[in-house]
Amino acid sequence: MSFVSSAARSASTIAALLLLSACQTVAPTPALNSTTTVTTGTPSHANLNSVLWYQTSAEFRANSIQTYNQARALLTAAKADRSWTAWPQSAAAAQLPPAIIVDIDETILDNSPAAARDVLNNQQGFNDAQWDNWVAAAKAQAVPGAVAFVNAAEAMGIKVLYISNRGCKARDEKSNCPQKTDTIANLRAVGIQKVEETQVWLKGEQQDWSSEKQSRRELAMQQYRVVMSVGDDFGDFLPNVKKDITPPQRAALVDQHQALWGSKWFMLTNPTYGSWETILAAPKQQYLRGF
Ligand SMILES: [Mg+2]
Repeated sequence: MSFVSSAARSASTIAALLLLSACQTVAPTPALNSTTTVTTGTPSHANLNSVLWYQTSAEFRANSIQTYNQARALLTAAKADRSWTAWPQSAAAAQLPPAIIVDIDETILDNSPAAARDVLNNQQGFNDAQWDNWVAAAKAQAVPGAVAFVNAAEAMGIKVLYISNRGCKARDEKSNCPQKTDTIANLRAVGIQKVEETQVWLKGEQQDWSSEKQSRRELAMQQYRVVMSVGDDFGDFLPNVKKDITPPQRAALVDQHQALWGSKWFMLTNPTYGSWETILAAPKQQYLRGF
């Protein structure tokens, strides 16, 4: 860019800013009412920037694709090496069929429209009924890179197990877990070619299937040599990391498992919710490190 054009642009930018400033001085401030809040969103909503990053940034998209590309590139080696396991398993695991464990929400399916709606409606906190409406709609898009990864794994004969904390709650007398049907329909709708009921393990489907996923991981390891885990929450990888724990303690656990990240454990980014946040005590500002 030449100096002249740069200077001209600067001058026009200044002129535009002055004009904008003048307009803002003259124009009356619109009255803040509920309609305005719904249509424009509320800048102070705690999740505004996180949801914007999730929905608009090239950085999020690239990061997800990068993670899945890396995982996909290791599938062949993971399948061939019979000692390759994502968590310690007995020697007998070498004879078990290979599998990978994936979380669903913000790992395979992108539920950010539900979060965006909360920002637009200035609704704070989690609403169970609205979440169930979103699950029933079965219209989540896929997290970038996820579909190609799970389809590649299945095509190689590596079973994909979907261990999710989506819960079961009857809506009528027809089914105890309509959420499972909805979730499988959504997974198929985004292009996942092979997913059966036996591969989707939702919270509460069995008595000890709580939001702590360890019991489901252990069950998977009785049946399979589990070679990889993909998730967006630290609880998708380790037990006892979602409550009664501090950020430094979690960081130490991440570091203790340093060799697993990017080889057997793959973390997607999710700044919109997760145990990273729920472990923080109020006021959250106490955790900020300034200088
Ligand atoms: Mg998740």
